[in-house]
Amino acid sequence: MQTSLRIIKPANAKPLPVIAHIPHSSVIIPSNVRPQIILNDKELADELLALTDRYTDELFDCIVKLGGYAFVNNLSRLVIDPERFLSDSMESMAAKGMGAVYKSTSKKLVLREDKVFDNCRPFLISRYFKPYGLELEALTGNLIKEAGRCLIIDCHSYPLNPLPYEDETKAERPELCIGTSGFHTPAFIIDIITAYCNENGLSLGFNMPFKDTYVPLKYYKKSRNVSSVMFEIRRDLYMDESNGSKNNGFELIKTHIEAIIIRLKDAFMKP
Ligand SMILES: [Zn+2]
Repeated sequence: MQTSLRIIKPANAKPLPVIAHIPHSSVIIPSNVRPQIILNDKELADELLALTDRYTDELFDCIVKLGGYAFVNNLSRLVIDPERFLSDSMESMAAKGMGAVYKSTSKKLVLREDKVFDNCRPFLISRYFKPYGLELEALTGNLIKEAGRCLIIDCHSYPLNPLPYEDETKAERPELCIGTSGFHTPAFIIDIITAYCNENGLSLGFNMPFKDTYVPLKYYKKSRNVSSVMFEIRRDLYMDESNGSKNNGFELIKTHIEAIIIRLKDAFMKP
């Protein structure tokens, strides 16, 4: 049976208190969840192509090599989206039918019919969403205990052209979009990423078109010991968005990501 998440641990005895959080890289939908989704196989394949942050686990694998952790959702975000708030009143995307469990597709069509959605949401939340949040919270807590702090790198990618569900429809989108939190993203992180992109000619945007970054709820806006920053890599840099295969830009963007992460790690670990 497919486990719903995996935690990749570093080999070194004294791990780096850095977590690569990979919530959206998988296309796997368990066989007990597939019948909830009204799309036919072709429509589902298209939806997965539009919404999956393919290869983000690979693009950010330097974090484990450097001694940190990877926390990876093994299932598609069409099962549950671990990045959303559980409570629809806290989650702005719930109004679009894209809260913790999706009701609508990226094309604003029906993904789960009302009755099916109402029936399956409690199961999906208790079976997948809550255990995921608790595991990530526990890992974060352990790192704080061991190292006094923890840095979460929230790893995503996004399409060159806006999808119908997005608010931001501007055509020009940066190669790298960084999501920050006024509470959890220290200024040095923003400065390092800005300097790197300037030096290397990468176009950069902050919180546009995607904003904010993941922090487990227990620490969210409560603990300064948890730092976090979100990376959204524009997908055309590394894949063919029409079929999901890697393109020849993959290695270059991966090298850039590694170089940025090394700078962030060095600054974060400075005593
Ligand atoms: Zn994502």
